[in-house]
Amino acid sequence: AKAEIGVSGLATMGRNLARNLARHGHVVAVHNRSAQRMRDLVENFSDEGTFVGAESAQDFVDALERPRRIVLMVPAGAATDAVIDEFVPLLEQGDVIIDAGNAHFLDTRRREKALSEKGLNFVGMGVSGGEEGALNGPSIMPGGPKEAYDALGPLLEDIAAKVDGEPCCTHIGADGAGHFVKMVHNGIEYADMQLIAEAYDLLRKGLGLDPAAIADTFRQWNQGRLDSYLIEITTEVLSHVDADSGKPFVDVVADEAEQKGTGRWTVQNALELGVPVTGIGEAVFARSLSGNRALRDAARGLPGTSGAVLEGAAAEGFADDIEQALYASKIVAYAQGFNQIQAGAAEYDWSIDLGHVAAIWRGGCIIRARFLDEITAAYRRDPALPTLLTDTSFSEALAGAQDSWRRVVSVAAQLGIPSPGFSSALAYYDALRADRLPAALIQGQRDFFGAHTYRRTDREGTFHTLWAEDGRPQEQR
Ligand code: NDP
Repeated sequence: AKAEIGVSGLATMGRNLARNLARHGHVVAVHNRSAQRMRDLVENFSDEGTFVGAESAQDFVDALERPRRIVLMVPAGAATDAVIDEFVPLLEQGDVIIDAGNAHFLDTRRREKALSEKGLNFVGMGVSGGEEGALNGPSIMPGGPKEAYDALGPLLEDIAAKVDGEPCCTHIGADGAGHFVKMVHNGIEYADMQLIAEAYDLLRKGLGLDPAAIADTFRQWNQGRLDSYLIEITTEVLSHVDADSGKPFVDVVADEAEQKGTGRWTVQNALELGVPVTGIGEAVFARSLSGNRALRDAARGLPGTSGAVLEGAAAEGFADDIEQALYASKIVAYAQGFNQIQAGAAEYDWSIDLGHVAAIWRGGCIIRARFLDEITAAYRRDPALPTLLTDTSFSEALAGAQDSWRRVVSVAAQLGIPSPGFSSALAYYDALRADRLPAALIQGQRDFFGAHTYRRTDREGTFHTLWAEDGRPQEQR
């Protein structure tokens, strides 16, 4: 029998995705540039299902039933183009290439266009959940033509994570929509991790708690509305003791956060779209700052408060305040990310169901959380919601968090504990709800030095003030 689907690129992700497919009873053709990886997979995991090992690209293509479904799991960029170029001459009309790597959505748009002109279907597919997710059920975000999803969807839904019996997989939208949504997912993941890290830092430096006690605090929070995979692994990391030194693991790890680039892509795109994703931006910059050793060494020891912790009455309830600030800031970060998806859909002409996006992030992926149910519910109530912040359930949570959130940000400033995520989220919230913004002054400055003109609140039209002459506004035509 021919294979229903094939996977090419059998490093960690590809191998696990192939095993996941095989475990669900699908016959899977497997291929890898260097054939040894393929042979290892067939040798070690054939008890899990049926693999058809292919030594060459031609063998691989021949092993597949038509229309062929070929999943690529190779590094984004040149490697993906190289593999596509190798397969294309071997394929026939209607065959489907699925790029499951972390491609940039603009590359996916380009590839989709080029392949559709050759009569091939191209599906850019975001996969989240790391190696564990790929094996046991990832969150899957496929883009590309709807017809391709019709042929592919059942297989993908089979291997995706399930929440309340629903697969964490849906057709996101045309061409690059799947990779776009995966990109924003990763950006939100950066923001969420940064906020959790700030909460940890405040508990540690503001209250003087040790990592084990902080792990207990997070464990408790994980019982409530913050219940999520990221909080869960945070408790694991914080309670871990380094086997070599006997010290808390967090105290022996170099404090320089690395990044592979999807957070940066998210912010770059947000700048293009003009969507303020301050939470994601601060998170990306915080990682860059942490990794800039020379800059940090040069500035170490500059004056400021250090070492003071809250005590007595001041400390009372502060951990709860941090929980409130974390939840409120998280709402802001997610609201910004969903606004970016909304803006991306408008810009690139996709029809994306935001509620459904939140629903497929409930399982399998890194940002899976109970909280996402609330987002789905909010978009079900109003699919055109301008921001999640105005949905009743979130605006009530923000109202409840107000005092704590402000206290945490001000205490952080007083104690000299950096909290860019918390404070920028609060600033975003205050800016959005403000009656008037100082943007009016900026317009004045622009008009003053560059005659850039401005609009008025009291009448229609475009104006320029004759700053150097009589200071009177002149209507511009
Ligand atoms: P890698 O990104 O390390 O890719 C290694 C695989 O790609 C190997 O099979 C390798 O073949 C093959 N490969 C590399 N260059 C070429 C080339 N020029 N031509 C043909 N094949 C090539 O593997 P991962 O499994 O970590 O990731 C795969 C993809 O999944 C990436 O795009 C990654 O961004 C994405 N991803 C990864 C996640 C993760 O948690 N790791 C999560 C979600 C997505 P060979 O064995 O011959 O060297």
